[in-house]
Amino acid sequence: MALKTLADAFYGELQDILSAERQLVKALPKMMKRASSEELSTAFAEHLAETRVHVERVEKAFEDTGKSPKSKKCEAMAGLVKEAESLMDEDASDEVMDALLIAAAQKVEHYEIATYGTLCTWAEVLGYGHAGKLLGMNIAEEEAADEKLTALSESINIAAITESAV
Ligand code: ZN
Ligand code: FE
Ligand code: FE
Repeated sequence: MALKTLADAFYGELQDILSAERQLVKALPKMMKRASSEELSTAFAEHLAETRVHVERVEKAFEDTGKSPKSKKCEAMAGLVKEAESLMDEDASDEVMDALLIAAAQKVEHYEIATYGTLCTWAEVLGYGHAGKLLGMNIAEEEAADEKLTALSESINIAAITESAV
């Protein structure tokens, strides 16, 4: 696809985030199961439900571009998920695994926040009000998820400092 205008770039980036969100819908259940902390597992489950809505909102955001929803593989998310999967294969104590899962999840959230930040800025200059509103809702939930993970890490990281008694 030729990228001649900012609208073309916006369309391409929407395809990227659609792929990223869909990859996450597949990855989060595995992270949910690998978490030992019930609170962390619940946080992943809640974000999985939100992520399914993110996919729908992104699909609707395409309307402003006048083009139908399409996805283009997000290699960055594929890499982040691959790293998370290899971490999950590690032989770590429950507390350390939870700390690692939080770290992996926060990298994902920050990637999404960066992409949505760009998309929101572009939607505004392009006059895509509908898309801007939907993408703004997604970024707010990604930020809240990130903050939730930071809060959880405060107790989980402390628990991971000392080797747990087996
Ligand atoms: Zn999302
Ligand atoms: Fe990407
Ligand atoms: Fe997210």
